Amino acid sequence: MSWLTRVRNAIPFLPKRETPDNLWHKCPECEAMVFTKEYEDNLFVCPRCDHHGRIGPTLRFDMLLDPGYSPDGDWPGAPALGLGFALRLVRNLADAVGGSLEIEPDAFVLILPAEAGEAPPATRSEGSV
Ligand SMILES: [Zn+2]
Repeated sequence: MSWLTRVRNAIPFLPKRETPDNLWHKCPECEAMVFTKEYEDNLFVCPRCDHHGRIGPTLRFDMLLDPGYSPDGDWPGAPALGLGFALRLVRNLADAVGGSLEIEPDAFVLILPAEAGEAPPATRSEGSV
């Protein structure tokens, strides 16, 4: 500590420089000091050695889910998760038995044959999205 720093710190009316404790991140692998902002912008991967840092589940869900979505499943106005997959599955199963699935603006129409070799009767199933 230089004499100037000692004198400046001894004078009570001069403001001391304060730096936040979380300004720097020390990589546990290569021990490089990286700006926390740079580390976060690099998705918690060390830019020097590519070490992947640990992140919590809250931050991980924030990265994975769209804004407004939460892992608790409280998504007002959001489409049902996996609806596209479920519809493709139903369509493929209906095709396999000789039927079909039609998607109308206000209903899903599932047509399944009653017995093999007969004309398929229409079965109307309405669902909300
Ligand atoms: Zn590193």
